[in-house]
Amino acid sequence: MTVPAVANGSGHTASSSTASSSQNDAGHHAAAFQGFSTKAIHIGSEPNPATGAVIPPISLSSTFAQDGIGNHKGYEYSRSGNPNRDSFERAVAALENGTRGLAFSSGSAVTATILNSMPAGSHVVSVNDVYGGTYRYFTKVATASQGITTSFVQMDGAKDEVKERVNQAIRKETSLVWIETPTNPTLRVIDVPLIVSLVRSHPLASPDVKIVVDNTFMSPWFQNPLDLGADLVMHSVTKYLNGHSDVVMGIAALNDDEWADRLAFLQNSIGAVPSPFDSWLALRGLKTLSLRMKAHGESALAIAQYLDSHPAIETVIYPGLPSHPGHEVARRQVTKRARSAHTASTESGAFPYGGMVSFRLKVDPSDDAPADKVLSSLRIFTLAESLGGVESLIELPSKMTHGSVALEDRIRLGIGHNLIRVSVGLEETSDLIEDLRQALAAAGL
Ligand SMILES: *Cc1c(COP(=O)(O)O)cnc(C)c1O
Repeated sequence: MTVPAVANGSGHTASSSTASSSQNDAGHHAAAFQGFSTKAIHIGSEPNPATGAVIPPISLSSTFAQDGIGNHKGYEYSRSGNPNRDSFERAVAALENGTRGLAFSSGSAVTATILNSMPAGSHVVSVNDVYGGTYRYFTKVATASQGITTSFVQMDGAKDEVKERVNQAIRKETSLVWIETPTNPTLRVIDVPLIVSLVRSHPLASPDVKIVVDNTFMSPWFQNPLDLGADLVMHSVTKYLNGHSDVVMGIAALNDDEWADRLAFLQNSIGAVPSPFDSWLALRGLKTLSLRMKAHGESALAIAQYLDSHPAIETVIYPGLPSHPGHEVARRQVTKRARSAHTASTESGAFPYGGMVSFRLKVDPSDDAPADKVLSSLRIFTLAESLGGVESLIELPSKMTHGSVALEDRIRLGIGHNLIRVSVGLEETSDLIEDLRQALAAAGL
């Protein structure tokens, strides 16, 4: 569905908002919207031309009056297009350096719609420890409904080995390559430009193979996959983009108009669209994304360094630490703005790289009692799945987010009962470190 850009700046695409009418304030000022936060705060939030409202009203109407048949102001029916969804789509597209944004009722609905745009009987190459719901969609839904098969490939590690594994997995039926970086919960960093070059130079690969990056863990503040060569970037908005643990939503951003038109057609046909209120809340959350991500990153780095120095911790997994095997790839791949925002001493080479930290207790990985004691002794961290909110969350992947992964796969991926995952929130870092210290002490560690 293509909705023409209208005077109040509610066109469907980031480019239409900048190229749209000259009565449009946003049109006048678009060239000034250069920096990340300037875009996050202003794109999609242009003052309402009718009332002057600085924040877009919540447009609950399910339908829109037409002046004559087919003569409307850019909206007909809210499933096909809604002003609040549109605002959010334009804002995220701009932050991901894409021209098109398409919002959905969840991150999982983005995945489902992308898969629905692939030919029946085609083949997917996916990173091996992909998000559980994505794994489930590939193996239990896309196979049954579209005859799509998926090869799961370890995409991190020595360059030669990655090359060999990816080259072996690609077939002439391959239609989609699915990357998630860093992965979850073991935070493996995938070299996106390397994977892109392997796909593009593969003798069997069609030039139409689409490369998707799930950027949920980094957010566009830390990582812009379209700039790294991906065709589409997707997010579970539920996590950092909204950032306040009160919305379930998803979004895709891309520059490929033909594919975007097809996805927009499916968005309208399948109808897994977000509500106006959720779109409005997510746009509100998005305005502070850079402040939140900077704080999540600085605090996660400090916590990773604290845990690294603790005698009861066997390994700390944080790509910003020089000890992480993907540290150099992380350094190359992180946005310049995120690198230069970190002004603390860089003597150690460490830098903030998102707000997720995983660590292993120095105990038997088949015994869940020590982790259970640590987790139940915490006072600030909430024991919960999910991530990316202002509040710190902690979980045991082996029994919670990754409980359904087969034991042998969990062992191979290093997800024992001693592996703990933290989503570092925005509380005072010193309080969080003290909470971890007392909980480790309470567990006798
Ligand atoms: C949560 C999550 C999803 C799924 O998003 P929902 O909004 O929960 O449907 C996809 N990918 C990653 C990396 C996630 O963390």
